[in-house]
Amino acid sequence: MTDAAIAIRDLQKTYKGGKQALQGVTLDVPRGQIFGLLGPNGAGKSTMINILAGLVNKTGGSAEIWGFDIDKHPRNAKASIGIVPQEIVFDPFFTPSETLEIQAGLYGVPKAQRQTAELLRAVHLEDKANAYSRTLSGGMKRRLLVAKAMVHSPPILVLDEPTAGVDIELRQQLWDYVRELNRSGVTIVLTTHYLEEAEELCDRIAIINHGRLIANETTRTLVGMAQEKAVEVTVDRDVAALPDASCFEKIELKGERTLAITYRKDKVNAGEVLAALQRDGLGIVDVSTREADLEDVFLNLTRAANTAAAAI
Ligand code: ADP
Ligand code: MG
Repeated sequence: MTDAAIAIRDLQKTYKGGKQALQGVTLDVPRGQIFGLLGPNGAGKSTMINILAGLVNKTGGSAEIWGFDIDKHPRNAKASIGIVPQEIVFDPFFTPSETLEIQAGLYGVPKAQRQTAELLRAVHLEDKANAYSRTLSGGMKRRLLVAKAMVHSPPILVLDEPTAGVDIELRQQLWDYVRELNRSGVTIVLTTHYLEEAEELCDRIAIINHGRLIANETTRTLVGMAQEKAVEVTVDRDVAALPDASCFEKIELKGERTLAITYRKDKVNAGEVLAALQRDGLGIVDVSTREADLEDVFLNLTRAANTAAAAI
């Protein structure tokens, strides 16, 4: 037993046919956080979520949800989590209102405690309460799924690729709702392959690749792990030929007097980069830097993991 919201130990899944989707993942999701599970397509994210949801049987390891082992206390485990699946499945003949009422019934929520109207309002579907599900857009259906996952007021909400098919404005509304739930104490887990999304929302990010955990850090630490740094330098004259120096990973001309340079923070510092330009006769007029984002971290880590795997 841990006090983590979700505790996963050596979790394994080999599908019929031999695909090893999870190869022994150990992971704690701390209570109260927004936790990102990041990885490319096929990494094993949905497999992990579906094991927690009771939709896929694991072939090894264990998992606890809110302290309840999914094998020993499946009912309590299930009551502690709400899951928004990646695939949208609905009975097209029920209305959003009916969909939520039926789901609440399945979870044994007494009529007096149901929050159908509030939930529909929270996901901006109040004016669709009595429309057939089949008439809803993809984004509306996904928001209805979020409401459906919350009917039993679980302490944990898991969203598997929640923004697929959701336009930008509605995505923002969805995030506002997720943040609001988190502020009210709900632990959030979301899977995504959109790195900016994870970076913007999550307190902590785990990365899986080929069914293995390759990182599990606070967002801040993870971002700091990216070693490539990009700067744009404006110089005082037109650049005739690109300066050549070993301290640049990459250098290209962005405008007549603007150079885009990438360097490795672990090898050189900004001063050395600028000095190399000055040696070439260029005066520095302006410098702008961009903090490495998760895209860089992700590429570096998955590249490192792939290289390590290839070396075995
Ligand atoms: P992700 O959600 O990270 O994209 P998945 O968990 O869906 O990854 O898939 C992980 C791997 O398991 C992939 O190689 C996928 O093809 C495979 N897989 C997923 N579901 C099944 C299944 N029902 N039967 C066989 N293989 C599967
Ligand atoms: Mg998936």
